[in-house]
Amino acid sequence: MKFVVMANWKMNGLPEWQSKIPDLRTHLQTWRARQSETLCTQMDDLRLVICPPAPLLPLLKKSAQAHNIALGAQNCHHEESGAYTGETSASLVAACGAHYVLVGHSERRQFCLETDEMVARKAIFAQMQGLVPVICVGEDYPQREKGKAYEIVGNSLRACFEMRHKEHVLLPPKVMIAYEPIWAIGTGLSAHAQDIADMHMYIRQQLTTWGGKEAANIEILYGGSVKASNVAKIADCQEVNGVLVGGASLNMETFAQLVQALCT
Ligand code: PEP
Repeated sequence: MKFVVMANWKMNGLPEWQSKIPDLRTHLQTWRARQSETLCTQMDDLRLVICPPAPLLPLLKKSAQAHNIALGAQNCHHEESGAYTGETSASLVAACGAHYVLVGHSERRQFCLETDEMVARKAIFAQMQGLVPVICVGEDYPQREKGKAYEIVGNSLRACFEMRHKEHVLLPPKVMIAYEPIWAIGTGLSAHAQDIADMHMYIRQQLTTWGGKEAANIEILYGGSVKASNVAKIADCQEVNGVLVGGASLNMETFAQLVQALCT
């Protein structure tokens, strides 16, 4: 299983951001040229994914392929098609070059009032289109303070894995989970290593109840103020199979430093 480094550009980017992918590769290659073979091998063990705003997907597709970077979308609708002005279907994001799609990011739950049920349906449609849904779950600060973090995360997961939609259910290995405590997103305050490990172990245990042995192959990412200075410690936590990076993925020099920090 390759460790995943997934960038979420959020609502940032213009067509000229096409140059960010070759830029990233240049930064990484310059670094590689100065490193030992062992560190270069470690870099080959990473899977890089960029989730740009949907209209940029077709523009980035070629260069992402050429540089061995996968693309993801930041959202898709919970219906297959129809009168949903301004929305994008799972089939369209797949056709535009996405391999992954984030569903239920906390900003969408907060600003677009997405519910666990909608998120579950998005995930199912995404899988039906051959995409890997990355189901984002996490508690806010008052919920953590009240000791409800596990209940909130457990409920969001249960909604996804216990839902049957149009005779489809989520297939365990073709899905990813991103644990993103809401209070850590964009605040500079990452969760403590032990809290991350505890929550990831809980998620793994919950996934096993639905997916049995296959659940061992579901990658669980951590997101929330991940940067070059803390990524190695986070990556060392038990059951952390990757990171979802917002702010620190917008500047390619900074993002390359984060990737490099995983190889030292
Ligand atoms: C995110 O929005 O998914 C995220 C993790 O953001 P940041 O890294 O900026 O906290």
